[in-house]
Amino acid sequence: MVSTAVAGHFIDGKQVRGSSASGSNAVTNPANGEPLGNVPDGGVEFADRAVRSAKQAFPGWANTPVGDRVQCLFRYKQILESNIEDIADIVVAEHGKTKAEAIGSLRRGIDCIEYATAAPVLIMGNTLPQIAVSTSFCRTEDEGGVGIDSQVDRVPLGVCVGITPFNFPVMVPMWMWPMSVACGNTFVLKPSEHDPFSTTRMIELVSDAGFPPGVINLVHGGPDVARALITHDDVRAVSFVGSTHAGAEIYKTAAASGKRVQCMCGAKNHSLIMPDANRGAAVDGVLGSAFGNTGQRCLAGSVVVCIGDSADWFVPALVEASKKVVVGPGDQAGVGMGPLVNNAAKDRVLSYIQQGVDAGAYLVLDGRECKMPKTGCFVGPTIFDRATPDMSIVREEIFGPVLSIMRAETLDDAIEMANRSEYGNMAVIFTDSGNAVRRFTRTIQAGMQGVNVGVPAPMAVFPFSGWKNSFYGDLHANGDDSVRFFTDSRVLVTRWI
Ligand code: NAD
Repeated sequence: MVSTAVAGHFIDGKQVRGSSASGSNAVTNPANGEPLGNVPDGGVEFADRAVRSAKQAFPGWANTPVGDRVQCLFRYKQILESNIEDIADIVVAEHGKTKAEAIGSLRRGIDCIEYATAAPVLIMGNTLPQIAVSTSFCRTEDEGGVGIDSQVDRVPLGVCVGITPFNFPVMVPMWMWPMSVACGNTFVLKPSEHDPFSTTRMIELVSDAGFPPGVINLVHGGPDVARALITHDDVRAVSFVGSTHAGAEIYKTAAASGKRVQCMCGAKNHSLIMPDANRGAAVDGVLGSAFGNTGQRCLAGSVVVCIGDSADWFVPALVEASKKVVVGPGDQAGVGMGPLVNNAAKDRVLSYIQQGVDAGAYLVLDGRECKMPKTGCFVGPTIFDRATPDMSIVREEIFGPVLSIMRAETLDDAIEMANRSEYGNMAVIFTDSGNAVRRFTRTIQAGMQGVNVGVPAPMAVFPFSGWKNSFYGDLHANGDDSVRFFTDSRVLVTRWI
């Protein structure tokens, strides 16, 4: 049994209890409905307390040498490594993913900490000596004039805010806060209200790593707390990960309040299967992409386009492989797919399955009929064949284990079908043809692209490059973009007379 109970806020280096008038929400284990504890809604009051704490901590932290700042991250990484099993157990209990998925996501988060420890190099500025010569006064041209030097520094912004989704409660916050604080900012995180306990545990450990009080804060709650943070006068930058609906609102509101904003949003990702593809790689890649994390990934490949006669071998092989996925509680050995996060998510997924049936797509694997526990938020792998671009199961993000397969005559037709999507988070192709790959990579409208891989996963060292309605902003999460997002440039021009 995982111990969770009450998720406290973490403000000024301490656990803080308290709710706004809207009280607290109960969190249950989606695999069995057992209560796990309560998450308070901090409301405007606790949001403000967290920002004030971060504002107070900022000057001291920004003036701490970057080499000393990253020592806290080195220590934090060790602490996290030694707590990885416990935190993964909390993720499994409150989110429902399998233990292997939980550990994998924590590892990807730890990659972000490792990258942020390179801040002394990443935030280094540039100089250009003798950018000009001043001859206007003090020196004549004959004397050569006075040299002018120029340099650019990268400096922290101030208080930064992160608003994060339920599907990776530990990994996604680590796209934000480690780099933000390594760059000298202070940070306030508002995690998802659906699975707050693992995020809380992750943040509480920062004190043991030596981060001074106020550098990293956490406040719980729902959209109202997010709105209070993103419009707060003392907040300089907002990093959001979540649905397109919320991201569009947050982008407009935060930008109108003068903040720097990046919003990593929803998706509907396409996998293209060429007739010459390696069959095993295509089936395995699509299986993992569509049903991994129970389809609750912004990089889930939830639409397949079979090109030419590839559907003849791909569809039966995928259906057979999907039938073998063991659906059950994420903490049980041998389970390949856990439950959805809660009953609302299950209802939404079931509604989409019905929409697909009603629209005339062929339901070749029905996740409602899968062998799975009777209680809990379970839906098995679901596959529609002969779906078409106008259907809601192809256009809209379902965020569950539902895969829609379309068919196209040619690669160009398939690319055109995929490009009709309002989203552009990722697209992949399975083929042996370099020519097809080149055509695909140059014309598909997706910022994360894969060749013969199911999920071109975000890596700490590269930006997570969603396009279209999968992203609002200019600088993406991770990689160089995150360094630039969490710093400002400051240019100095010097003339010594
Ligand atoms: P969500 O948008 O419901 O919630 C995300 C966060 O925003 C939560 O903290 C929530 O409290 C807050 N929020 C929700 N509505 C808000 C509003 N109107 N104003 C202010 N704050 C609001 O998302 P979710 O259901 O938790 O997560 C799933 C979504 O996240 C999917 O759409 C998925 O594709 C997306 N996602 C995207 C990425 C990416 O990198 N592009 C990564 C992970 C998840």
